[in-house]
Amino acid sequence: MNNYEKMWQELGLDVNLHNEVLNYINKGFQNTVGKQKNRPRTMDYFDNVLHESHGGRVAELLEEKSKGKKIVGFFCIYVPEEIIMALDMIPIALCGGTNFSVPYAEKMFPRDICPLVKSTLGLAFSKTCLYAPIKSLAVGETTCDAKKKVWDILSQKVNFHIMELPQKKNIIDTHLWEDEVHTLVENLEKLAGKKLNPFILKEKIDIMNNKRKVLQRLAKLRIKEPPPISGLDALVVMQAALNDEPVRFTKKVEELCDELEDRVKKGISPFYDKAKRIMVSGCPSVMGNWKVHSLIESSGGAVVVDETCTGVRYFKDLVDTKANDIDGLLGAIADRYLKINCSCFTPNNDRLEMVRTLAREGNIKGVVQYILQYCHTYNIEAIRIDGTLKQDNIPSLKIVTDYSEEDTAQLRTRVEAFLETLQ
Ligand code: SF4
Ligand code: SF4
Repeated sequence: MNNYEKMWQELGLDVNLHNEVLNYINKGFQNTVGKQKNRPRTMDYFDNVLHESHGGRVAELLEEKSKGKKIVGFFCIYVPEEIIMALDMIPIALCGGTNFSVPYAEKMFPRDICPLVKSTLGLAFSKTCLYAPIKSLAVGETTCDAKKKVWDILSQKVNFHIMELPQKKNIIDTHLWEDEVHTLVENLEKLAGKKLNPFILKEKIDIMNNKRKVLQRLAKLRIKEPPPISGLDALVVMQAALNDEPVRFTKKVEELCDELEDRVKKGISPFYDKAKRIMVSGCPSVMGNWKVHSLIESSGGAVVVDETCTGVRYFKDLVDTKANDIDGLLGAIADRYLKINCSCFTPNNDRLEMVRTLAREGNIKGVVQYILQYCHTYNIEAIRIDGTLKQDNIPSLKIVTDYSEEDTAQLRTRVEAFLETLQ
């Protein structure tokens, strides 16, 4: 038994089943990310973050826990990480991207809910999620119906806080959201046994803003011609962003960007000249899920922009740091997070504008709208996204899929046909 197995056993995991999960995820990684040629040297670090998310990172968190820090899990990028950090706690994303765990959720929950939700629940219920036993609190939000109703059940079993996200962005909604941010603070302060301090909050906002800035730098490098990095590798970086320690992560992304700048100067690219420039738009692809990016890039496309929560939506806006008091800083945080354009909002015109701008800036030839099965809001909003892109003569292809491999051949045929039609 290796050291990690001892740790997994002590955390109450089903070690044998967990080994099966790891093998499944590693196989998926090798068949997609691992198959790429001409990757940036500095990607090694981010590959390692993914591999160590069940080992070294958990050991690191347990070490922090032994010093009194608490771990707070979250499921959505509307949860303000800087507030958790300012109370000396560690935020960790809990979303599942593996198909392996889906059947374990289907034993209790309906099959016809989104695979992201099922994968997350399946990991927790099959005793293969390491973060479930180490977290002190989970923070959910009311972004979609599946999540809302799942929280009802989970909050009976674990310490749970639910943030109510408004569905519109009018003045009354911004007030509601600000109140929700304050209520989160109250609950986190109770858990931490201390009050928010404006200086520390500002320090943590700076850490998160620096992380966002470096991801913006990476996004600008991705759209160079030819792109110095694949979309699949950029996705690995984003998946690592939701798990890694933020200061270390930021430094490593700077190093990656330095290498990419050098590759741009030398004209080094993982793609051949005629690779079609694609934007992926829609649902997030969290750790364990490389399906759509891999399909596109192994069919002759180059994903140079992600209009998703594992893409631009995570880093496009900074928190304003002008205020010096708690209320002012929390107001700025609320304001920044409400700018995220999730499809749960109505109307969601800002997202349409963002897609149009990103397509122009990235010289995008076609958009793949990636919709997780049963995610009604992205699925229906795809109609408006398609209409907006048509005004700029940019075609889009809608892919509705889950985490399984069953439809891969059929999707490949559709993606290849789509790429062939692009100018
Ligand atoms: S798609 Fe919406 S619900 Fe999902 S992580 Fe993004 S903001 Fe949250
Ligand atoms: S992908 Fe859609 S359905 Fe799934 S959790 Fe996110 S918002 Fe909800």
